[in-house]
Amino acid sequence: MKAEIISTGTELLLGKTLNTSAFYLTGQLSGLGMEVVYHTTVGDNQARLLEALGQALTRSQIVFLTGGLGPTADDLTKEVVARVLGLDMDFNQDCMETIKHFYNEKLSLPPGSEKQAAFPKGAKILQNEQGTAPGAIIAKEEKYCVIMPGPPSEMKVMFDNHVLPELQNILKNDQERMYVRVLKVFGLGESELEQKISDIMAQKSPFITLLDKHTYMDLRVTIKTGNREKAQTILNNTEEVIRKRLGNNVFGVDDENHAQIVGNLLRKNKLSLATAESCTGGLLGGRMTAEAGSSDYYLGGAVSYANSAKEIILGVNSVSLFEHGAVSDTVAREMAVGVKKRLQADLGLSITGIAGPDGGTVEKPVGLVYIGLAHYEGVNIKKCQFVGSRESIRNMSVETALNMLRLYLLEGK
Ligand code: AMP
Ligand code: MG
Repeated sequence: MKAEIISTGTELLLGKTLNTSAFYLTGQLSGLGMEVVYHTTVGDNQARLLEALGQALTRSQIVFLTGGLGPTADDLTKEVVARVLGLDMDFNQDCMETIKHFYNEKLSLPPGSEKQAAFPKGAKILQNEQGTAPGAIIAKEEKYCVIMPGPPSEMKVMFDNHVLPELQNILKNDQERMYVRVLKVFGLGESELEQKISDIMAQKSPFITLLDKHTYMDLRVTIKTGNREKAQTILNNTEEVIRKRLGNNVFGVDDENHAQIVGNLLRKNKLSLATAESCTGGLLGGRMTAEAGSSDYYLGGAVSYANSAKEIILGVNSVSLFEHGAVSDTVAREMAVGVKKRLQADLGLSITGIAGPDGGTVEKPVGLVYIGLAHYEGVNIKKCQFVGSRESIRNMSVETALNMLRLYLLEGK
């Protein structure tokens, strides 16, 4: 089913308010297998809103409108929906009672409250537990308008509690839906990835898109069909073919993340991990502990930023620091070995590098990062040269360290 979102509110066009509602709704609707084909943002302007809704209804079966349900003159959404669908406005006494109840009956009702209780004729009213403006679903000739309040907190609760059950009903009769599988890929750039699977990407169905997530790529496989089993089979087969091509570059599926995957592998192999971080200042430890149950495998780590901290906490040799510098394979090695020994872990993972923007030299430019992995058979060292901002260098360092550990756990080297 094709869907559109119309966000209303002049504030959204002034750079004052981030349109979080459209983001939230799109995630929810895509998750239901709906095809969101347009986002439109319109100011509080009747003519433009009429035009936007009119157009949306020619293209899509269901339109979600947020905002403009307040009591003031610039709140226009319900009136516009009524006009576009050719319906009269109807005063709803039950709604009025709910609004009165919200104001606790002791307070006088603000002017315009009657306006909040008026809806296009035949609308199914949706309760607003978080505020005064009720929402509504209006159906006409196989088309639907879903009206929800502007404040995201009100919109989300209304969507989850009242819109979702109605949508499930509407979708029952829908012939086709979208089925999606996301493969998460590390270590291949967009063009490299595209080259490896260009023939699969050239197919019309399943449809494949690449999304650059900065530290990794999302490869989205989408199929539109009315047959759930057929969809699962096609997605499984496509995943298998892609995995054969990309091997361990695929690190996860759908909502999985790298730290979670690594954590599961550590748990499965009954191995413990300790981390030693310099330029990432604890980001890696943060990622590891973001996973519930990480105490099963993560022992802890050191944020050893200064040379003195590397020496005192991890036992890094002062001569190594002097002769090779803090950003060197020697120091990465000693950090990994040091933290493994200190915390009596099975594995020690270290990161030391120059995150910038200052501190780079010709020999050691900004973005130079060494990652060390100490295990029972020795120490693996990876030298990386990242580009970008301090933030992206730090994020790439963490992701690369996680990848190095994942590959070691999968391939034993
Ligand atoms: P309204 O119901 O149109 O009066 O909206 C009330 C308030 O909700 C606005 O002033 C914004 O602060 C907020 N709001 C409305 N629409 C959105 C949106 N799409 N995303 C985030 N905030 C919004
Ligand atoms: Mg508004």
